[in-house]
Amino acid sequence: MGVTYTPMIEQYLKIKKDYADSLVFFRLGDFYEMFFDDAVLASKELEIALTGRDAGVKERIPMCGVPYHSVTPYIQKLINKGYKVAIAEQVSEPGKGLVERKVIKLITPGMIIDDNILSSTDNNYIASVSQEKLYHTLAYADVSTGELYVTENLVIDELIKEIIRLNIKELILNDDQMHIKKRISDFVLISIHNEVVLDHDRQKGLKEISQKALGTLLSYLSKTEDNLTKSFNETIINNRKDYLKLDYKSLNALELVSGTDQRGHSLFRVLDKCETAMGSRYLKQMIESPLLDIEEINQRLDFVEIFKENYIERVKLTDSLRGVYDLKRISARIATQNASPKDFAQLRQTLSKVPHILDSLMLFDSYLINQYIKDIDAHDELYKLLDKAIVDNPPLIIREGGIFKRGYHDELDELKDASKHGKKWLLTFESTEREKTGIKNLKVGYNRVFGYYIEITKGNLHLVKDEFGYIRKQTLVNSERFINSELKEKEALILNATDRSVELEYELFIELREKVMTYQQSLQELSNKIAYIDALVSLGVVAQENNYVRPYLSDEREIYIEAGRHPVVEIYNKDPFIENDIHIQDSGILLITGPNMSGKSTYMRMFAIIVVMAQMGSYVPAKIAKLPIFDAIYTRIGAQDDLTSGQSTFMVEMIETNEALKHATKDSLLIFDEIGRGTATYDGMALAQGIIEYVHEKIKAYMLFSTHYHEITNLESILLRLKNIHVSAVLEKGKLTFLHKIKEGPTDKSYGINVAALAKLPRALINRSQIILDHLEEDQKKDIQLSIFNFDESLDDTVINHQLNEKVIEKIKDIDVDSLTPIEALLLIKSLQDDLK
Ligand code: ATP
Repeated sequence: MGVTYTPMIEQYLKIKKDYADSLVFFRLGDFYEMFFDDAVLASKELEIALTGRDAGVKERIPMCGVPYHSVTPYIQKLINKGYKVAIAEQVSEPGKGLVERKVIKLITPGMIIDDNILSSTDNNYIASVSQEKLYHTLAYADVSTGELYVTENLVIDELIKEIIRLNIKELILNDDQMHIKKRISDFVLISIHNEVVLDHDRQKGLKEISQKALGTLLSYLSKTEDNLTKSFNETIINNRKDYLKLDYKSLNALELVSGTDQRGHSLFRVLDKCETAMGSRYLKQMIESPLLDIEEINQRLDFVEIFKENYIERVKLTDSLRGVYDLKRISARIATQNASPKDFAQLRQTLSKVPHILDSLMLFDSYLINQYIKDIDAHDELYKLLDKAIVDNPPLIIREGGIFKRGYHDELDELKDASKHGKKWLLTFESTEREKTGIKNLKVGYNRVFGYYIEITKGNLHLVKDEFGYIRKQTLVNSERFINSELKEKEALILNATDRSVELEYELFIELREKVMTYQQSLQELSNKIAYIDALVSLGVVAQENNYVRPYLSDEREIYIEAGRHPVVEIYNKDPFIENDIHIQDSGILLITGPNMSGKSTYMRMFAIIVVMAQMGSYVPAKIAKLPIFDAIYTRIGAQDDLTSGQSTFMVEMIETNEALKHATKDSLLIFDEIGRGTATYDGMALAQGIIEYVHEKIKAYMLFSTHYHEITNLESILLRLKNIHVSAVLEKGKLTFLHKIKEGPTDKSYGINVAALAKLPRALINRSQIILDHLEEDQKKDIQLSIFNFDESLDDTVINHQLNEKVIEKIKDIDVDSLTPIEALLLIKSLQDDLK
């Protein structure tokens, strides 16, 4: 037999059934309460107390709650952690029986428009998928900015990678797509939705499969909140063939948009000097999607050049961009009917800046810029409208008035006058009553329940006479509250005027919002133009401040970088960055050796980042940079287990290598960092050589390959286009110093043990390792057995010092004591001491 809870808990369970994958915030008086598993989870995530509640059964049920008036930060926290929140409100008046409750809002990570929750520099995407045979379409949207995209022809692996790369926050799948759910649910919140709508405007020109994906997305959004899709003007088909291929692993390994260390240093951080949030978001998209078309790249570079070279005009331009609000998000909020009066004030301020932006752009006196801005609509009319309508500092809420300026609407002005006069009358009334009663501290006040009242403290009550006509309304601890007929009469007039004016303001706001909504598309266009300019100005600023050069891109298959620098390491590291050159002829391979920590990865990353920067249209950190156009960058840097797929480091390494080899063309760039080190030496070495030969002979891609296997440096004599280079380091008195300088030829040794010594591993262990290495190097085939005996020797430091001591003893034996002066003796002792250190 099932358990029966109290009626309220039964009501809760009914609601919860429909919102099983959400945390249900159940309104109970002044609180939102959560019950059962929701309560356990929420109390942990929100760090609030978990309590219990009688629910008509033997055991109390778990419960936790948050006050309704300060619910926003709690919701934010849960959404940021990837949960959905369903708000169940009381929808009938409290009275007899159970209050009716209904979910009035579902908040999910993919549907946020609230600026307090969103990051200003990141898009917040929600997506859906459709499939035909092996191919998928990904439809994705950012409801907070009104962007709507479709990417077609993705095989399942590409689909998964794209979802991760775009950092999609919520993925809508239908019941037939559980195989996708299985693959991706560790990375993204999944919502199930089985309906599809037809939306001819936004599905125009799309293949049937893509219409389906889009139809699911639009259906889900409009079902949850009717207006959410209103910010989308057009569907942009994202043609991946137009962009350099860069998957999320490479984005992460190269730290392009987010750093992997705690400091979060990334290329984006270095390049982002944007004045506006939309500029920053656009810049991030530029980094994530470098271009392939030389003309398009050069056009961006032309802008950057103009902005870099003209300092005075640029400063004026950045000044005019300062204070421009996030036009994209504001106009999306207006379109989705979520805008507040504050948004209108911000829109007004932004529009007030546009003429200045245009003027300062004209100062550059450039054909390119003039062409670009010639059809920018400054929205003068809209500005004037907003300026006439909205007060300087409008409120966030639309239901409490205080939004409109005097002179905007005659009736509103009259009502406001009436209410203002009424308030004046109240002041006069108060002083007349004080005089009449002789009570100096008599007060006229207002509350929602009793309206206006006369308040008299207990000590003065004896002064209240019948002839005043006071009627007692409320008794407080220290005072009594009264009304009289005169006050009540006036109250009706004042309150009516105030109520009506608040109501009228609301109506006028809705009317104004409708009007502004007609500008939605042109505001989006304006914001795109501002974002583009802002991002390219930012690149101009960074190019000048960090001393970058314009890359020269051509069809020639030669790479020539003189004095290249890693743009992120050079900014954030304490030590000065050592510049390095890169020179690769047609389809060349650089085989890089050098000690650990010498700078091999940094060198390889530097090159890949310079390629990304060049193809996104940025200047690059070098003295000269000549580059071909790359179609893809494949990286395998740093060994990580792919915990999500349960695969070992080596397996992941091989899978990723295979991916790269499968897709790379002669125009791709492969960055392989110590491939093969995750297995036995000979296997690793053999694989490394096999990969190099395969790329050299079959793919003919450009490749940077770092390794600790010196043995394969011999390949230089066999493979025509392979060149050995190494990162130099010097070893003096057993101490290793990294020079970080790239030199021709292979390195002589690995210095692994010296690096371990720098890391301060136990001295005994280091020395023991050195002995093992000496043996191995002497005779690679002879085993050196570790016995308890000789390991203890190592720990004792006996073996450690044995050879050293012998050398010192020899020196002492050789001393001719008779011929030594006292000074020489002292110097000798010092040198012997040094030897022993
Ligand atoms: P491992 O073989 O252990 O992976 P590595 O040779 O790849 O090491 P990196 O990680 O590239 O070494 O570099 C180690 C550190 O040296 C970097 O964190 C950086 O601070 C510094 N470094 C590298 N290259 C340079 C350079 N050109 N100029 C200045 N510092 C550098």
